[in-house]
Amino acid sequence: MSSPVFDHNKVTVIFVLGGPGAGKGTQCANLVEDFGFCHLSAGDLLRAEQHRQGSEFGELIQTCIKEGTIVPMEVTIKLLENAMAAAMKENRAGDGWKDGKGRFLVDGFPRKMDQALKFDESVCMASAVLFFSTTEEVLLSRLLERGKTSGREDDNEESIKKRFNTYKETTMPVINHYEALGRVIEIDSSPSVEIVHEQAKVAVAKLLRY
Ligand code: UDP
Ligand code: MG
Repeated sequence: MSSPVFDHNKVTVIFVLGGPGAGKGTQCANLVEDFGFCHLSAGDLLRAEQHRQGSEFGELIQTCIKEGTIVPMEVTIKLLENAMAAAMKENRAGDGWKDGKGRFLVDGFPRKMDQALKFDESVCMASAVLFFSTTEEVLLSRLLERGKTSGREDDNEESIKKRFNTYKETTMPVINHYEALGRVIEIDSSPSVEIVHEQAKVAVAKLLRY
């Protein structure tokens, strides 16, 4: 078995999970400001690949996103690995980016067990999972609100329903897997952005031993 591309003693990876609309992207942006993370959204990377001239995966990605299903892991993992390598090469200034070290928030990934196992084994062992939890009611209202301006092909009632199903059936087992390993930090994301941010900040500071 080959070893991971990145050594987890130098490269810190935090997976950021939670239902669609839980506030992962918003809170990641805040944590970038606080701690100098590189924020990688799997969904954003997939959308960029979907629209990239000459991509052989464009149609496949579009269909999966609309149907709320999971793109085959090889595609997503390669996109993440490439983005991580590019960020490491960039040689960013700031905390956690000296002497071959780096820190990443991997947002909206892994959504399926096979991705989780493969990423940990071949790219980098994740240190923790930040799990933003809230009710389906809250998720739905946030997604419908976002849908008014997001232009996203999956922020409509029909796609949302399918995404909820995938989340419950396919992604919850991933969270349970890391929970059993004692690596999940759960944060109630029902309150305001500011309150959730405060809690996330405290949790991440503890994890990074600030
Ligand atoms: N997706 C995927 N694999 C991933 C992450 C996302 O296939 O690892 C696809 C999936 O179809 C998902 C869509 O991308 O429903 C949108 O993901 P995104 O993270 O942007 O949604 P969010 O959670 O932010 O609402
Ligand atoms: Mg998102």
